[in-house]
Amino acid sequence: MSTITADKLRRLRRIIQQTADLNDRISRGPRQVAAGQHAVAQTEEQVLSLKNAWKTMRMQSDDQQVQLKQREAKLVDLERKLNECKTNTEFKLLKDQIAAERQANAVLEDEILDKMERLDQLVLDIQKTEQLRDRAQQEHEKTTQRVEQESEGLQSELARVTNELQEVEQGFPADFRAEYQRLVRTHGPDALAPVDGETCGTCHTTLSSQTMNQLYLSRIVFCKSCGCVLFLAEDRVRRSSDTE
Ligand SMILES: [Zn+2]
Repeated sequence: MSTITADKLRRLRRIIQQTADLNDRISRGPRQVAAGQHAVAQTEEQVLSLKNAWKTMRMQSDDQQVQLKQREAKLVDLERKLNECKTNTEFKLLKDQIAAERQANAVLEDEILDKMERLDQLVLDIQKTEQLRDRAQQEHEKTTQRVEQESEGLQSELARVTNELQEVEQGFPADFRAEYQRLVRTHGPDALAPVDGETCGTCHTTLSSQTMNQLYLSRIVFCKSCGCVLFLAEDRVRRSSDTE
């Protein structure tokens, strides 16, 4: 029966854990950059939409001001006609028309004033959103820089850990290597289960005394319940070698 020391299995678990952590950090970087890019694009879109709203309202307001000027000119014309009119009926008609025109102009003036206020508010909103966008841009640049800087270190750390893994794997029986690699693909670092008391550290099933004895002899033992590779904690091995 093949043997591998608990020490090697503990190292193996640590390396697999480190590899998983490193891969996680390596893949997190580009996700953070993408999220930053998205935040910038989103605020930029808000700025554009506010600017478009401002433009549309400004055009409407300009149109209404032109309209108001035309209506005021018309009113002047009507007042001139009022002064020149000859009959009472005509006078009354003009008087009513002038009153109606004045009323309509007052409504138009209110609308123009309302638009001016809303334009002022839009200018403030644009400024505020531009600040948010600039801040998002700065954050994004910082993140990109940080991720770039970290990436190199993480890659070389991964290369180092991968080398260490190859070193530890040397001397593993071929069938065990294939089996544990399959387990790692499914369970990650938990594919190697530290024995906790007399239970499997991954599935917590109680181990038989025969299994425990095999472990003390550094035999390769798979948990009968979850299939993971079992190994003893550091103090357990020492204690077993003390009694030998
Ligand atoms: Zn188990």
